[in-house]
Formats: sequence, C-alpha cells, structure tokens
Amino acid sequence: GAATRDRLRIAIQKSGRLAEPARKLLAACGLSWRESRDKLFCYGESLPVDLLLVRDDDIPGLIADGVCDLGVVGRNELDEQAGARAQIGLPQAYRELRALGFGQCRLMLAVPEDWEWTGPEQLRGKGLRIATSYPSILVGWLQEQQIDAQVVELSGSVEIAPRLGTAELICDLVSSGATLKANQLKPVETLLESEAVLAGPAGGFDDARAALAQMLLRRMDGVLQVRERKLLMFNADRDALPALERLLADAGPLVQLPSVNGSLALQAMCEGAVSWQQLEELERAGARQLMVLGVERSLA
Ligand code: ATP
Ligand code: MG
Repeated sequence: GAATRDRLRIAIQKSGRLAEPARKLLAACGLSWRESRDKLFCYGESLPVDLLLVRDDDIPGLIADGVCDLGVVGRNELDEQAGARAQIGLPQAYRELRALGFGQCRLMLAVPEDWEWTGPEQLRGKGLRIATSYPSILVGWLQEQQIDAQVVELSGSVEIAPRLGTAELICDLVSSGATLKANQLKPVETLLESEAVLAGPAGGFDDARAALAQMLLRRMDGVLQVRERKLLMFNADRDALPALERLLADAGPLVQLPSVNGSLALQAMCEGAVSWQQLEELERAGARQLMVLGVERSLA
C-alpha cells in the first residue's frame, strides 16, 4: 500500500505492557491527541501524527500493508513475524528504527526444574516437543543448534504445556522468571534479548511523512538519551575529593561550583540510575546534602 498521505500514522498497543510507556514516550516527543469515542484512533492535535490503538500482534502486519507508517512493538513480535514472512518467501517489509528501552524481556528455552542442564546438545536425538508462541524464532534456533525437536505452537499459556503433557519443554518470554518458577520450570537458554522498538517500513517514505518521521526520530533520540541521566549534587570538604572522584569514576567529570562557607559544592552527570547504595557509599566518603535530579530533555 503505497498511498500518499500527509499525516503520519503510528500503531501502538491498545492495552498491555507496552501501551502506557509507548504513549508516554510519544507525548514526551511533543505529540498530543484528541481521543475518539471508540479510542481505536487518536487524531493528532499538536502535529499531523495520529495513533492507531491495536493488539501488538497486528502491528508488524499493519506496517507491512502500509496501513500504519510506524509502530511501537516488542522486538520478539517483529522478529517472529519477519521470520514467518521470510519462510513463505515474502520480502522484508519493515525494520527496527530504534530500541526504546522499555518492555525488556528475553525469549528463553525453559525446562522442568529437576532437569540437569548441560547445554542445547543434550536435546539432540530425543524427539522432544517444545511449546511456544514464537515458532519461527524457535525453528531458526533449533536449526542453528542442529536439534531435531517438534515445535508445538500455542497462542497463550505456554508455561502450562509441560504439566498438560502437550510438550516436554517450552520457549517463552521471561522477565522476572516468576511465571516459570510457579510452573516448576527453569530458564536455560536465551534465544532473543527483546525490548520495545520503533518499527518502520523497510523502504522509508517519499512524501510529507518523510519529514514528519525524521522530526519524530530526532525528538525521540533527545528523549531516549536523557531518560536515564541523573544530575547528582552534593557538598564535601576538599580532602574528601579523591575518594569521591574514585567512587564517581564512571560518571561525568566532577564539577566544582563556587563554594559556600568553606565546603565544596559539587555536581556530576550520571548516565544511569543512582542507587541508594551508591548514595550511602558517597556519604561514607564525605559527601553531604546529596541530591539526585532527573534530566528532562536536552538538545545536543
Ligand atoms: P495484545 O492484546 O496486545 O496482543 P499481549 O498479551 O500479546 O497483548 P503483553 O503481555 O502486553 O501482550 O506483552 C506485550 C509485549 O511486552 C511482549 O510482546 C513483549 O515484547 C513485552 N514483554 C515484556 N515482558 C514480558 C513478559 N514477562 N511476558 C510477556 N511479554 C513481555
Ligand atoms: Mg499479543
């Protein structure tokens, strides 16, 4: 569907794990919408960028068919459907434009807890059945590992398959591992590291949407770059400086601000979150009045 359009249409999950963070990210990029009554389509107000609220499974297909221009979807879903398209000889229709830093999970092989795991080669020649919702990624991995297992495709509740006797092991998404544990399974091999991604058409755009997409990507980069960045501020005596600098070796340079009544006022930019434990270590090394501030946006 190569129809020319002057508005950009982005598909996001209607409800579920990726719905809220996707909306928040797009809102942080300066987008706002007038919501329709049925809430399937949100008309863009601040920019000609509309939202389509759908099931995450539908997003790759909507981009492939040109119904949507961009989509926020798990890499697991995108890769699975790309693999399925390739298997039936369809051309690549979409690509990952950005990794978005939320919705992290792993596609993992999990076996009954009481199995002793020595490696994938122990599955060879056993004629085992593996339940999964990701058959194309699993089949690819099995071929790589030269394992001749039978893939049992299930659309949900994969983790109960071993108890039901429909498969001996499973291949499923894992984040905390609690679901596996509750089903007496343990994760043993990672097939894919996944997170939410921004997906777009393999070919790009050749009308007004090109400039819109470019602007959105630039703003998104600005949001993503500072998302985890924290400004750390504190006071300390001069003789504590070497120890504090050692503790902050991974952060940006320790900046000295004009000092107040003898003690130094210091600040450092940290690329990741600053934990309570790090703050307590800094305090023991002589830092006082510690404060961690979030960074909202920046233009490089
Ligand atoms: P939909 O109704 O949209 O099809 P769903 O049940 O398929 O919803 P969710 O469970 O909301 O989808 O998961 C959406 C995405 O969140 C997954 O495709 C995956 O990329 C990511 N995700 C992160 N952690 C997990 C997890 N522990 N289990 C499943 N998905 C996870
Ligand atoms: Mg789904």
